[in-house]
Amino acid sequence: MKKQFIAGNWKMNLTMGEARSLAEKLCDESDNSDAVVDIGVFPAFVFLRDVCEILRGSKVYVGAQNMYLEKSGAFTGEVSGAMLRDVGCTHVIIGHSERRTIFRETNSMINSKLKAALSCGLKPIFCVGEKQEERDAERTNEVVGNQLSEGLAGLTSEQANELTIAYEPVWAIGTGKTATPEQANEVHSFIRNTIKSKYENDTAQCIRIQYGGSVNAENADNLLGQPEIDGALVGGASLEPGSFLDIVSAAVRLS
Ligand code: PEP
Repeated sequence: MKKQFIAGNWKMNLTMGEARSLAEKLCDESDNSDAVVDIGVFPAFVFLRDVCEILRGSKVYVGAQNMYLEKSGAFTGEVSGAMLRDVGCTHVIIGHSERRTIFRETNSMINSKLKAALSCGLKPIFCVGEKQEERDAERTNEVVGNQLSEGLAGLTSEQANELTIAYEPVWAIGTGKTATPEQANEVHSFIRNTIKSKYENDTAQCIRIQYGGSVNAENADNLLGQPEIDGALVGGASLEPGSFLDIVSAAVRLS
C-alpha cells in the first residue's frame, strides 16, 4: 500500500507570525505520523524561507503554490524553480484551479511548468478537476482526460513517477461541498487508468492521487478510506494545526 500524502495549501493567507507559528506546531506535533504518512505544507512565497528553516530536519515537506516556467530573466513578479530549490523547497503545486481560472493558465503552460519543475528537481503536485457545469454536462472524464494528456505531454515515465496528481473538482474547492467518496474514487480510477494507458502499469500504481475539495476532519476518514485515494490536498482546514493534524491522523489510522 502507498503512503498517503496529506498536503496543506495555505493559499494567500496568514501573516509571517502566523505562518511561523503554524509551522512550529506542525514540526512539534507531526513527529509520530511521518513513518506512515507524508505531510507537506505550501505557504505563500514570502514565507517559504522561514517555514523551510523551521521545518528543516522534520519530516514535513515544504513547497510553493506556483512557479514560473522559465529559468530566469526579465519576468517581473515571477519566481523560478531554482529559486524555490535555493530556499529549501522540495515540492511545488502546478495547475491549481485558481491558477487556471483567475490567472488564465492553460494546459500548455502547465505542461511547461511541470517540465521546468522536474528539470530542477522539484516534485510537482499536478492539479486537475472539472467545473460544476462540466460535471452537469457529464464531461468530467473528457475535461480531466484533456488536462492529463496536455499537461503530461512529453513527460517520460521516470518524470511521471515523480508526480503526485491532485483531483480537485472545482465546485468542491472552498465551497464546503465535497465530492462523495464514491464520486471521487470513480474519477481517481479514471485518472489511474489514463496514466496506465500512457505509461507502464508500474507508473500508474506508483503515482499518488490526492483528493482535494473541502476536506476536513469530519469527512477525511470516508474520503481517504477509498481504494483509489492516496491522500488529500487541503485548503481551508490546513490553516489550523488541529484540523490539519486530525486529517493526518485519519490517514495514519487507515494506513
Ligand atoms: C485547495 O485549495 O486545493 C482546496 C482543496 O481548498 P479547500 O480544502 O479549502 O476546498
